[in-house]
Amino acid sequence: MKLRVDFSALEAAVRRMGATPVAFSVHVATRPLDKIDAELAKGIELPDLEDVELSGGLLSYKGRQILLYIRSHDGKVQAALADGKKGNKFHVADCKTLQTMRSRGRFERYVVTNKLDGSFHIEGKDWKTGAQEEGEARLWVCQNCLKQLNYKGANYGGAYEQAKDFDIEEFFANYSSYFRYLPTRNAEDGESENYTDDWNEVSRKYKEARNLSCEACGVDLTAHKNLLHVHHVNGVKSDNKQSNLRALCLSCHREQPSHGHMFVSHKDTQTITRLRREQGLLKSGDWKKASSLCDPALQGVLDACSRARCPVPEVGLDIQNAKGLVVGTLELAWEAARVGVAISEEDRDAAKKAGWTVWESVGIINDTNRFCEKLQQCHPVRQR
Ligand SMILES: [Zn+2]
Ligand SMILES: [Zn+2]
Ligand SMILES: [Zn+2]
Repeated sequence: MKLRVDFSALEAAVRRMGATPVAFSVHVATRPLDKIDAELAKGIELPDLEDVELSGGLLSYKGRQILLYIRSHDGKVQAALADGKKGNKFHVADCKTLQTMRSRGRFERYVVTNKLDGSFHIEGKDWKTGAQEEGEARLWVCQNCLKQLNYKGANYGGAYEQAKDFDIEEFFANYSSYFRYLPTRNAEDGESENYTDDWNEVSRKYKEARNLSCEACGVDLTAHKNLLHVHHVNGVKSDNKQSNLRALCLSCHREQPSHGHMFVSHKDTQTITRLRREQGLLKSGDWKKASSLCDPALQGVLDACSRARCPVPEVGLDIQNAKGLVVGTLELAWEAARVGVAISEEDRDAAKKAGWTVWESVGIINDTNRFCEKLQQCHPVRQR
């Protein structure tokens, strides 16, 4: 039997009492494989695009992040099998192409999947021989999708390169905060090989010598030891020289080179953000600092705002109600204008109730100039 408990109401109640919810990390990532996960890994053919849900402009199916593609390749099946670039593009966001198809009510047999390895089963009738062909193709990602999210600066001319080097696993890991269920790998998996036998002891001592604090951002994780990792700087897991080790919080760890595949839950990210705030580490002030502190799912918005010369937002601001009680968190907040971005629905609702204007990240990316104008029009309202 599977228990699925949503603690958000409980946490909101704790906040209303003026207390801070304690993160009892529920490891969504290590849950056993659901039937739906097994089906998604193989690919589910959907009769209707309307069955795909949206989360922060990304594609979602039953709480999981997915991508979608068209299996049927008809006349170009052989070309696509030989060179994936010549096949149909797969989609990772609610892009212009998909929006157009939906508005025209065009029917295609879309397959949704969360397979991470970049190979797609395609089929079709070869136009020369008339024979039915099928096989695995390495299809390319749709560039409109990357632009929609401003993924890795795709809106500044890099979309083709991004599509060429696109890594599905890295992409999904970047946006993990938007989804309730993470792919069935967790953060530690990527580093589970080649550790020395005494690694647990070495890493425990190392963390204690660093006062259970992150060496990059400084957050003290005494109360959340599981969110502090020990990272091998040169990537060699058996090299436990002190100079090769670094104690890093989960958020800083996922930003290390070649660590783009760590799936981190929104809850863990928010716990680190909350601790950083409580410990006075969240004074952003400049774009670089904001970028290092914010959830990677919001990097595209942050880049767009920085380009458009918006004021620098605060990262991880508490939302307070009329009585001054904390009711939620805004991932990005322009406090003077009372404008912000939140990832979870609970936070978005809490912010709106408290009188904030909440924007969707995709809305800002697609119309950054209008967003900036709005920010400037707002009379600065002094808070507190
Ligand atoms: Zn697309
Ligand atoms: Zn850190
Ligand atoms: Zn590492």
